[in-house]
Amino acid sequence: TLITFEGPDGAGKTSVLRALLPQLQQLASLPIVLTREPGGNAISEAIRSLILDPANTAMDARTEALLYTAARRQHIMTKIRPALAAGQIVICDRFVDSSLAYQGAGRHIGVEAVAQMNQFATEGLTPDVTIYLDIPSELGLQRIATQRQQQNDRLDQEDLAFHQTVRQEYLRLAQADPNRIKVIDASQPLADVINASQAALKQALPT
Ligand code: C5P
Ligand code: MG
Repeated sequence: TLITFEGPDGAGKTSVLRALLPQLQQLASLPIVLTREPGGNAISEAIRSLILDPANTAMDARTEALLYTAARRQHIMTKIRPALAAGQIVICDRFVDSSLAYQGAGRHIGVEAVAQMNQFATEGLTPDVTIYLDIPSELGLQRIATQRQQQNDRLDQEDLAFHQTVRQEYLRLAQADPNRIKVIDASQPLADVINASQAALKQALPT
């Protein structure tokens, strides 16, 4: 079973996953492997630091999309596929939907083109269930600003427009594939988000 977690920045993916993992492990009969992308192995982590290095401000959007997709491929081959083959439950923090939303829509290089690139990389590996933590862009950005102890008014319009585009794409993907993508309102208190995520996942877990 492959489970993925998705959401815009500030949705609280990391906090939710941290709290949820022990609860899910109680419910599941099989071992759960938690992993994140881009990363999960040495090569993908190296690609991740390349992408996220603030010094690389001039990175072209298609280059970025290719790098994320390359990191994903390596992550699948070294970690996800072997774990699934061993009968484990894999929970992955971000997957293809992130590329569709951030690069395809957010960076305007086309959702369909990014989907094709990812088809090549994943050879069709698709999550059984995806938890999408939905957050209004203003609130998500506020949460990040609070984390970084910045002033809200430093968030410029370009940032907001980008995040709104990312969110709209996530919502569109969820509408197109409601059987796979479960939308959770992440503006609720953390405990409620955790409970709602657990409820949505319960049926997907092999017991
Ligand atoms: O939320 P997480 O820590 O997983 O994301 C790390 C950063 O990478 C975030 O700022 C997110 O916006 C960015 N990202 C991206 N495109 C992806 C995946 C993540 O821009 N495909
Ligand atoms: Mg995070």
